[in-house]
Order: sequence, then structure tokens, then C-alpha cells
Amino acid sequence: MILYGIVFIFGSLIGSFLNVCIYRMPRDRSIVWPSSRCTSCSNPIRPWDNIPILSFLLLGGKCRTCKAPISLRYPLVEALNALFYVLLLWRFGPGWPFLIYALFSSALIVITFIDLDFQIIPDRISLPGIPLGLLAGSLILPDPFMRADALGWKSSLIGAASGFLFYYFIAFAGEKIFKKEAMGGGDIKMMAMVGGFLGWKGVILTTFMGSLFGSIIGIFMMLVRGRERGSQIPFGPFLALGAIVSLFFGQEIIIWYLYRR
Ligand SMILES: [Zn+2]
Repeated sequence: MILYGIVFIFGSLIGSFLNVCIYRMPRDRSIVWPSSRCTSCSNPIRPWDNIPILSFLLLGGKCRTCKAPISLRYPLVEALNALFYVLLLWRFGPGWPFLIYALFSSALIVITFIDLDFQIIPDRISLPGIPLGLLAGSLILPDPFMRADALGWKSSLIGAASGFLFYYFIAFAGEKIFKKEAMGGGDIKMMAMVGGFLGWKGVILTTFMGSLFGSIIGIFMMLVRGRERGSQIPFGPFLALGAIVSLFFGQEIIIWYLYRR
């Protein structure tokens, strides 16, 4: 129980750093320097005003100096990352897979929010993620669909290759058929990374879940907002959500699918 508490605090601290990455990476600023500042008045944030989740609540969601509202997204990202780490510990126990998956799920959080804001998936995350996923998938990680077994280099390599090729094909075909960019290069590299970590079955389930979530939200947005045709919703966040579902519940979903009758 104490370990869960420590992991929650650790996850929220990393989540605080993810907020910095989400804000600075697409603006091409250093993620280590300078220290955190208010995005409104540029005053440095004091350490005691920079405690994950808590400071937001204590400050009433406002900057101490200029009283500008702080986005609710900051504590949400911190809480989300902390929640993922706790779930990972519960699912995989302490050890290397926990640490690797923690890195993976944090990367997916950063990708999600940068894609929502800028419709890009930063190479700085997806490109190093590909060799890391292949290495960890080959040596350390379990098969998310059969957690008692190792993933192995074959499934990891086929996963990265199929993620890359499938999304490359969709992007290519989309451009030929619709005469416009349907799938960005960022999605292709991201899915190569996901394939390395989760294997080829992970690529299939991530694609299925991502399309399902994307369709539901797409229809919902059309009904609520009457979204004009041609406007784009980024696909990266849905793929990230699909990958998270595959990671946590891949085995349960496969068992349900195979034995539901
Ligand atoms: Zn301020």
C-alpha cells in the first residue's frame, strides 16, 4: 500500500514534467531550462506553488502573482500520469516492465496533448521510442495479450514493421483517393513505436480501438457542434488511447473475444 502511494506521488511529479514537455516541445524550447514560469506573466513559479495537483487546488487555479487562471489541464495531466503508474504497478508489479511501460504511457500522454494542440506528433518522442520499444520488447516486456509469456523479438519487430507499413499504406492510399493528407507522418512513426512495445497483436487492437473511439467522438462532435466537413480531428490521441487499452486490458479483451459464446 505504501508502494502505491510512493508510485502515485512519483507519477504526479513526472506528470508535472510532462506538462513542461507538452508546452515547450512543439514551441522548440528546452525542456530543462529555464525553470517553470507562469505562461501569462512569466514570473518563475516558486517550488511550493509547483507541487503536482495540490498547488492547483491551494491556489484556486490562479497564478499567485498575476491571478491569471491556470488551465485545469495541468493537474489533469499530473493525475492521469499518476493513475497510469498506479495501474501499471497493480497490473505488472514492481520491476523493469513497470518502468518501461511507465515511460511508454507517459510518452503517449505527451503525444496526445501536443497532437490535440498542434496536430503534430513530435519526432523527439516517436523516433527514440522505436528502438527503445524494439529493445525492451525483445528483452524485457511481457506479451500484453498473454502476460505470462515474454513478447520476444519476433513479435516486437513484426509489430514495429507492421505499424509502420500499415499506417504508411493508409496515408499513401488516403492521399491518392481523397487528394489530401488523411494520416500524418507522425501517426506512422508513432505506430511503429507502439508496435515495438506491444507487438503486432497490439498494433491490430490499437488500430481497432483507436478507430472505434475516433468514430464515436467524431459522430458525437458532428451531432453536438455540427462540425463542418473537412475540418480535422487529430487521430493520434485515439491511437494513444487504443494503445493504453491494449496495454492494460489486451489479455482480457482477447479472452472475452475468443470465449464469449
Ligand atoms: Zn502569472
